[in-house]
Amino acid sequence: MAPRAPLDPLTGLEAARFGVYVHFPYCLSKCPYCDFASTAARTIPDERYTAAILAELEGRLEAQQLTGREVTSIFIGGGTPSLWAPASVAKVLEALRSKLRVAEGCEVTLEANPGASDAGRFADYRAAGVNRLSMGVQSFEASTLATLGRAHDGATAARAFEAARRAGFDNVSMDFIYGVHGQTLAQVESDARRAVALGSEHLSAYALTLDKASLAEEVPLARQLARGEVSLPPDDTVVRMQRVVRDVFAAAGLQRYEISNYAKPGFHSRHNALYWTGGEYLALGTGATGHLRATAPFRYSNQRSAEKYLLEVEAGRWPEASREELSGLELFEERVAMGLRLASGVDLAAVCALFGQDFASRALTVRHLLSAGMAEQREGRLALTDAGFDVHSAIAARLM
Ligand code: SF4
Repeated sequence: MAPRAPLDPLTGLEAARFGVYVHFPYCLSKCPYCDFASTAARTIPDERYTAAILAELEGRLEAQQLTGREVTSIFIGGGTPSLWAPASVAKVLEALRSKLRVAEGCEVTLEANPGASDAGRFADYRAAGVNRLSMGVQSFEASTLATLGRAHDGATAARAFEAARRAGFDNVSMDFIYGVHGQTLAQVESDARRAVALGSEHLSAYALTLDKASLAEEVPLARQLARGEVSLPPDDTVVRMQRVVRDVFAAAGLQRYEISNYAKPGFHSRHNALYWTGGEYLALGTGATGHLRATAPFRYSNQRSAEKYLLEVEAGRWPEASREELSGLELFEERVAMGLRLASGVDLAAVCALFGQDFASRALTVRHLLSAGMAEQREGRLALTDAGFDVHSAIAARLM
């Protein structure tokens, strides 16, 4: 059984209330669709980066008076954290345990790339305290993986999953992408079937997005798309792909608990649930974004360049690229948009009351959604149906 976390009363979801995100930015190569804070590195400055994370942790705990606070989820994301030496991961987790009150059963996730994984390494992460692996499989199909620039193949991904099991991980998630250039509906279905055949506790499936932000980030695939050198499947095909994934996962007993996330009962991600339910999180590392409530709620984002991040921390400065106070309206909008992504729904009247927003003026929209079959009342919460999920953004915008 997966670790437990408190119940969020507004969504009915078990979610961490305070978590820690640690970013590891290094990868073996840069995938052409990637707009994460990641960098290809032949030699990874493991010790230097670990020292910077520990220094940033010290500084933030002191500045935000977080020492001793209870933590119910830790997520080590990237980049490719499975390239991080297990001894370094152990050091970081030990530092978190010594400075914060890490709850019993705290969910501790590490993202792994199938091409940078083996059972011995996984066993070391397990011994260090990691109890959940999230694997960036993306696809088992050679052509899709080639388009995405991924170095692994389908067989390697399956072997990485088995290696995780041999290392003692009983909570493994796998990520998939659909809506890729040249990908067919049959290939998407085949990926979904192969994923459930492995028996993963948790699966995520996201449509490939290459928007203006990707262009600004110099994402090669976004540039190719803008030049007309590649084209993504039309929207209705992408919707059909999403539906086939949903149906295959559902038939295998995985509940769609969030628009893009599916889990066996009891295995939803407590850390992601924290993001979807307005929880607080301390973020460390390159490009990491944190959300804390000191005297007022604020969000900060660290430098996206690994080298710049290291230099700032080593000079004793905050490695932040931005920091902004969050207004009540922003928090309200986030809570509504995120809550509507959840199958359990969101108590809209309670969210309105919490942030001083008028519920009565939204009641007519709610009635329309219910009568159109786009939403249902589930235990007093407004929850989108599968049809509503297909147009989530438009519905959220109307309610905000
Ligand atoms: S492995 Fe992940 S983080 Fe690294 S470049 Fe590829 S998509 Fe980006």
